Amino acid sequence: MKPLKLADCLLTDVPRRLDGERPEGTEDPFVAVFSGSVSSGKFCGLASLVDIAAHPGWIFADLVEHRAIHALSSEDSVHYALREMGRWRVDALPVLDRNEAFIGLVTRTSILRALLLQESRLLRETHRLNREIAHDKEQLASWTFRLANLHEASRTLLQVLAHTSLEADLLQHGIEALTQLLQARYGAIGILDEKGALLNFHHTGMTEQQVAGIGTFPEGRGLLGVVIREDTVLRLPELSRDPRSAGFPPGHPVMHSLLAVPISHGGRVYGRIYLCEKWEGQEFTEEDELLAKSFANSLSLVLENAREMREMQQAQQHLDYLAHFDALTGLPNRGLIEDRLRQVLANSQRHDRKMALMFIDLDNFKGVNDTYGHAAGDALLKSMAGVLTDALREGDTVARLGGDEFIILLPEVESVQDVATVAKKIVEAVREPIRLPALDHETCVTVSVGISMFPEDGHTPEALMSRADVAMYHAKSVGKNAFRFFAASQNLVVQQRLRLEIHLRKALARGELFLEYQPQIDIQDGRIVGFEALLRWTNEELGPVPPLEFIPVAEETGVIIPIGAWVLRMACRQAREWHQQGYFLRAAVNVSAWQIHHDPEFFETLKQCLTESGLPGEALELEITESLMVQKTEATLDLLERIRGLGVRFAMDDFGTGYSSLSYLKQLPLDVVKIDRIFIHHILHDRSDAAIVSAILAMTRHLGLLVVAEGVETREQVDFLKEHGCQEVQGYYYGPPVSAPVFAASWLNFLPSGKNAAGI
Ligand code: C2E
Ligand code: MG
Ligand code: MG
Repeated sequence: MKPLKLADCLLTDVPRRLDGERPEGTEDPFVAVFSGSVSSGKFCGLASLVDIAAHPGWIFADLVEHRAIHALSSEDSVHYALREMGRWRVDALPVLDRNEAFIGLVTRTSILRALLLQESRLLRETHRLNREIAHDKEQLASWTFRLANLHEASRTLLQVLAHTSLEADLLQHGIEALTQLLQARYGAIGILDEKGALLNFHHTGMTEQQVAGIGTFPEGRGLLGVVIREDTVLRLPELSRDPRSAGFPPGHPVMHSLLAVPISHGGRVYGRIYLCEKWEGQEFTEEDELLAKSFANSLSLVLENAREMREMQQAQQHLDYLAHFDALTGLPNRGLIEDRLRQVLANSQRHDRKMALMFIDLDNFKGVNDTYGHAAGDALLKSMAGVLTDALREGDTVARLGGDEFIILLPEVESVQDVATVAKKIVEAVREPIRLPALDHETCVTVSVGISMFPEDGHTPEALMSRADVAMYHAKSVGKNAFRFFAASQNLVVQQRLRLEIHLRKALARGELFLEYQPQIDIQDGRIVGFEALLRWTNEELGPVPPLEFIPVAEETGVIIPIGAWVLRMACRQAREWHQQGYFLRAAVNVSAWQIHHDPEFFETLKQCLTESGLPGEALELEITESLMVQKTEATLDLLERIRGLGVRFAMDDFGTGYSSLSYLKQLPLDVVKIDRIFIHHILHDRSDAAIVSAILAMTRHLGLLVVAEGVETREQVDFLKEHGCQEVQGYYYGPPVSAPVFAASWLNFLPSGKNAAGI
């Protein structure tokens, strides 16, 4: 606003009189006095009503003559005018133009009035501005409120994220809140399933009939399809003008403004949110877009999390099932039957009753597999499960131990003769010709059955199992297709076993043991990162004995302690030797649960192996199995932690074959999980094995564990594993276990010397 000027305070309609006139009848506070003419004569001065009253009878000339004229110019400031009035002690001053002609006068009152006028204008302006500011403030407050609401909504979303899977209620509330916040008439959230079909649709402001039409949109047509396909935001003032618009479904009200945002995360689109028709025909703003995007972002996190939780749950359910039941036949597995055996034994002991355990093995199952293929083998096993189940009485249990081995538990038997009757029935039932779906002709199979009895043959599950096993071998040795009790067959089998044991005790001293090395490969670049050391035994009399045959004996007899120490020492030495040649490979060594539980010196031995060889702990990986968990104690976990303190890593070997529990993986200080080769073997042909492997991969990724797939034999298996995120592989496809010189010749020359392939 401009400063006040004298011209703004000027009073121009001042009465003008000639100097010869008398002032009778004058009521104006001031009169301008002229000589000659009131319009063009000389200005003589101002006469005030106070002067006139004080000198009745004087003419104007008398009233003004004795006073000098103190006049102002219109250029003078208000401030100057007030000062001059003060100086001359007058209440008014005339204002003259450049030619000394009178143009009006200013008084204190006229100045005051002008000032008041200006102030009231200012006030009005201030009011107007205040109103504007208030409006802006209101806007601001409303945005703050809306943001707070949105924030709250996001927080609720994220809270839900932590606890549950996605709920319909949440989506409904979400879209209602967002639609309200962004002042839209219609709002909807569509969530898509993996294949892009509409899974959930939540809306507000629409009738069901309208929804029925719109609901068909997300398949990819129209603007909403664009949002999903291109993972992009659309903000349009007039949606039907967009060339990509597919129009409206029949019966749908015409809409104008549109704001549509994808719900996406990491390149994956879960669905989209759209809002139509902003109130009062307005367009959606950039802020609206930001809010909607932030909301969609929170939602995508919830959806991502829900998906991961679902995957984890599925994997866990699958593993829980695997933990108790055999996937092929649906029968209880080894773990479950061992539990049941324990219960039955406890019951029998309490009630002083007899019970029997049968160990059943198919004769020449390998022949069926080799001749007719795995599909026929699987069909045979399934049909066997049916035959065995049918042959039993209520209360008896049949389980599959793995391969072609089954177990039958008879919890209540009167006599050996009763058991023999059941066994005979089984042998005869199996012998019946069967037609397998995989074959177009009938085939015949037979079984060998070994039986142990409580209380005669043992008091523990382990004893009864192993004796039934021994009895089964006896049945085989007498020509198969038969059953045998343990008691009668004891000698022969025990003798064989004894022979193995005696040789094994001397194997170390005689230098019959040696190690072979199998490469472990980084699946991405095919480079070698480490090796697994595998124990071998060749005896003069027995020939080569597979580790799976002699290691259980070594454990039972305790010989595993010196043998295990020897394996560790040799593997560390070998790894160190290769390190010194510039090949930094990680050494994986198998450690049996028995060693960890029963060898009080284990930690010291391990430390000594590292120190002696000079191998850093970080280069060593110990492979343990889930059986470790069966007798897990605080002391065991403590030992594992101490070992880890040396930098040594732990791998869970043969994962998937035992209890396969997620909680075990969490409880143990693990770094690596090795998927058992049995799953890898069928990965391409058996959908359930493929599902298990991908579930294990998803789960371990979640837990941040490295995965090594064992028993990889083909290019196709490598491709499958690579595609599903497996990091490392081991198997015949890359190379079998071989002696150290062969290993060095085949692998180490490829590796540029000094390269740190294992990342250590
Ligand atoms: P593991 O630790 O799971 O070892 C892997 C086994 O898979 C080895 O059998 C190996 O020869 C075999 N293998 C490797 N690649 C393939 C493939 O592509 N296809 C197939 N079908 N098999 C493959 P191996 O040497 O007979 O050892 C059997 C088991 O004996 C080992 O299983 C491990 O549990 C145990 N073992 C071996 N050495 C030791 C040891 O020094 N100490 C202890 N405690 N156990 C050992
Ligand atoms: Mg292993
Ligand atoms: Mg293994």
